[in-house]
Amino acid sequence: MRSHYCGQLNESLIDQEVTLCGWVHRRRDHGGVIFLDLRDRDGIAQVVVDPDTPDAFATADRARNEFVLRIRGRVRSRPEGTQNPNMPTGMIEVLAKQVEVLNTAATPPFQLDEYNKVGEEVRLKYRYIDLRRPDMIEKLRLRSRISHSVRAYLESQGFLDIETPILTRATPEGARDYLVPSRTHEGHFFALPQSPQLFKQLLMVSGFDRYYQIAKCFRDEDLRADRQPEFTQIDLEASFVDENDIMLITERMIRQLFSDVLKVELPDFPRMPYAEAMRRYGSDKPDLRIPLELIDVDDLMKGVDFKVFSGPANADDGRVAALKVTGGATLSRKEIDEYTKFVGIYGAKGLAWIKVNERAKGLEGLQSPIVKFMEGIVESLLDRVGAQDGDIIFFGADKINVVNEAIGALRVKLGENLNLYTQEWAPLWVVDFPMFEADDNGRLSALHHPFTAPSCSGDELKANPAKALSRAYDMVLNGTELGGGSIRIHDQVMQRKVFEVLGIGEEEAEEKFGFLLDALQYGAPPHGGLAFGLDRLVMLMTGARTIREVIAFPKTQSAACLMTDAPGEVTQDQLKDLHIRLRHKQKAAPDNE
Ligand code: ASP
Repeated sequence: MRSHYCGQLNESLIDQEVTLCGWVHRRRDHGGVIFLDLRDRDGIAQVVVDPDTPDAFATADRARNEFVLRIRGRVRSRPEGTQNPNMPTGMIEVLAKQVEVLNTAATPPFQLDEYNKVGEEVRLKYRYIDLRRPDMIEKLRLRSRISHSVRAYLESQGFLDIETPILTRATPEGARDYLVPSRTHEGHFFALPQSPQLFKQLLMVSGFDRYYQIAKCFRDEDLRADRQPEFTQIDLEASFVDENDIMLITERMIRQLFSDVLKVELPDFPRMPYAEAMRRYGSDKPDLRIPLELIDVDDLMKGVDFKVFSGPANADDGRVAALKVTGGATLSRKEIDEYTKFVGIYGAKGLAWIKVNERAKGLEGLQSPIVKFMEGIVESLLDRVGAQDGDIIFFGADKINVVNEAIGALRVKLGENLNLYTQEWAPLWVVDFPMFEADDNGRLSALHHPFTAPSCSGDELKANPAKALSRAYDMVLNGTELGGGSIRIHDQVMQRKVFEVLGIGEEEAEEKFGFLLDALQYGAPPHGGLAFGLDRLVMLMTGARTIREVIAFPKTQSAACLMTDAPGEVTQDQLKDLHIRLRHKQKAAPDNE
């Protein structure tokens, strides 16, 4: 129907006849001449319709915003003085010969022809209209280029694109499952995959050697932060590899992707043990663009006459850490109060600080509510953090995880607020994760997932599970975890040991993962892999503010789709077919509706 996209028109087409199809972005009547800005996914072209072509003129006259038109006309230079250098097609216009209305449009729920602040609810309800906006088109276009680049790279490295089932059994990744009741097997349920983890491992047992998939994953998580119940992973797995191989393959993939799509050459990817990341940054996904570090001062605080510090400094599970901000002494009382409130979100009970006004003056030259307790150690403290005049030092003193979370988050917040970034992109690998984490009752769960290989022997693992490290690795970029993976257990005995440590008994292991344990007996090769969160990757690369901005049809924070009104109610007939009776809410729609 068309010869060109609107946005493709330029001066090289002058005097040529073109046919465009698109939406009326804006219509203006200028003293007998009608100007139509016609929009399609590639951009906007200015169409001029004059009364010399009466049919075209009459049609253009009744066109309204968002009408769908087909226009045939001749490209010409815009008259001197009317060019618009800010617009890609701003040097030309199309003089219409024929204007055809392909469809009319009701007045849209929000204007598209000028910037207009629209609430997210409205945008999500009318997502198909929201997606007409150039910035949304741009993000989805970039997303498409990203998956294309990733596919091209992985194919070039011999990875095969293989689909795995959506209706399956639970694959534990630490979230709740979405369940689908079976009609044909009364009382039985499918689970939607939290990831293709087990299937990709089985593909390795089959001998496919290198697998990848751009896969939908489903996790019924508490919807804090910026998560989606269904999201997309770039998932891959390879056989006869160690962690170094997987890290190199995927690092090259991300490098190539940034180079292809953003023309950015990423710097080196340092590798940092988990323990070091927690100690220096209070986080297992440190943002290395920010040059601030947590510095341990427990040894200095053990003897101070200030319980808030000496308590955690002397406790096995406590930590006292300092965070020095160069030049931060200019922060106002009000700003410090706000940071105190901020660390409270992470469980910190307060935020102690020292301003270093004039170091040479000793205690006199410091300004702080706590400095009176620091006599005797203050010089060592200032030396330890390398304090100079004009700096501020913040302190976190509490249980280790509270200090890490609170001061780690404060570090990021200060980096953002004071714009301390030293580089645009800071990637790294975090390695040597613990195998397990303990909850408040001491129950262990897998930090990655239960199929991750430990880096110690089975006996060592059983003797001291809390100390065991895993062969897992995470790729982190600018403080965001882009992806994570591990070398897997390919030995049935080891897999059983890990289940045992996790408190998954023989029977439960057979019931849930019998097929995996079986498969491990039939010649499972050493293997490992990784999965990237595609949505988050696109978000970083487009600079989008939320993950919803880079998904065509996202769900809300409460896991609903405002456009289709999903999840929806079902009829009694459907429930009956599924052998389900609702306990509380007998509000299913009547039969045969
Ligand atoms: N299945 C893992 C995840 O979803 C990734 C991996 O281990 O490959 O996090």
